Amino acid sequence: MTNPNTSIYIHIPFCKHRCAYCDFNTYAGQEDSIPAYVQALINEIEFVGQRAEQMNIHTVFFGGGTPSLLSAPQFDSILQALRSAFTFTPDAEVSIEANPGTISPEKLKTIREAGINRISFGVQSANTEELRMLERIHDFFTVIEAVSTARKAGFDNLNLDLIYGLPEQTPASWQTTLQRTIDLHPEHISAYALTLEHGTPFGRWSSKGLLPLPDPDLAAEMYEYAEEFLESKGYVHYEISNWAKATAENRTQNAESNSSFLIPHSSFVCRHNLQYWHSLPYLAFGAGAHGYANGYRYSNALRIKTYIERLIHPSSFIIHPFPLSPATVNQHKQSLKDDMSEYMLNNLRLTNAGVAESDFRLRFGRGLLDVYPKEIEELVNNGLLEIKTTEVLKTSVVYRLTKRGRLLGNQVFLRFV
Ligand code: SF4
Repeated sequence: MTNPNTSIYIHIPFCKHRCAYCDFNTYAGQEDSIPAYVQALINEIEFVGQRAEQMNIHTVFFGGGTPSLLSAPQFDSILQALRSAFTFTPDAEVSIEANPGTISPEKLKTIREAGINRISFGVQSANTEELRMLERIHDFFTVIEAVSTARKAGFDNLNLDLIYGLPEQTPASWQTTLQRTIDLHPEHISAYALTLEHGTPFGRWSSKGLLPLPDPDLAAEMYEYAEEFLESKGYVHYEISNWAKATAENRTQNAESNSSFLIPHSSFVCRHNLQYWHSLPYLAFGAGAHGYANGYRYSNALRIKTYIERLIHPSSFIIHPFPLSPATVNQHKQSLKDDMSEYMLNNLRLTNAGVAESDFRLRFGRGLLDVYPKEIEELVNNGLLEIKTTEVLKTSVVYRLTKRGRLLGNQVFLRFV
């Protein structure tokens, strides 16, 4: 393994309002529990930190939910607990997800000073009707204001999240959303297709025929438009749903390394998410948070009340090996087969980098074609995977999704499960 660094995910499961399409582990109307929740998080961080060996933390991600509902002092106390329990690398990326309607200049300034250096706004659309349909609490003017406030507070690494393939969304409306998004000059853009999740109001309305289903062909067209448009505006498409702005220096590096076959450089790739896509370890704290470290995949109790109870009054009879905690409710020791399969699923998401034969061999001691000969042959023959020989590492080949494979990613991933 070439990267010894570890990442940390912290889940903040509070929202002002539950959006109709959302199936995340988050709850509206429970903000009264935030102080107790923050204390429980600190307890969990201390508990796991005491059992951890020396490890360098190079990314932290506050996700949700709506992390921006926490106050600046609450962020500060969580960050202090993290710094006491673990060693941060000097250039650690510390991200927060924020809802444009839940920030203030003072809060952003204070959390920036506390060490949070990347902010991700859930924008979803620039169209008022679409935002209303999604039951978001903001409009696009609030987004413009939020971006300006974040810039003034010193954030120079900013992501905007978008959703496409909405019911009744037109290509023109999607194109306007993309244009208005890049007009705000974010360093990073994520664009995900809407999925109708079972158990959400959108899922129920759609099964009763009350919500027109998003047209999959139209959604595919919107994705292809985003690929072309964002690349033409200087964004590197480095993961199926993620684009990062390339600086002038990055463009020179890309030209010199002929890196169309490798990961094109961008200083603004989300290093935290790359940790997931490279199948590298991350610790997880908070209700329903999922982690991967020390050979375990594990997850915590979903409910806020249960999570708090388990950490305020932990049972002293149960032994928790690192990285598990009293909040852990699911744990699975990974087999070599699990690890190889997840490695394929995660790394194939990286549209340019893909899976390098040499990296796979280095990590697992076996050749890719020895482990997945049939799967790879079939996917290449069906035009979903392509083989590239890198210019720099002439001895190694890279397997990556074709343009068609990106649209049919789930079919590809299933072959490795
Ligand atoms: S704000 Fe985000 S996390 Fe909260 S309910 Fe809406 S989509 Fe879900």
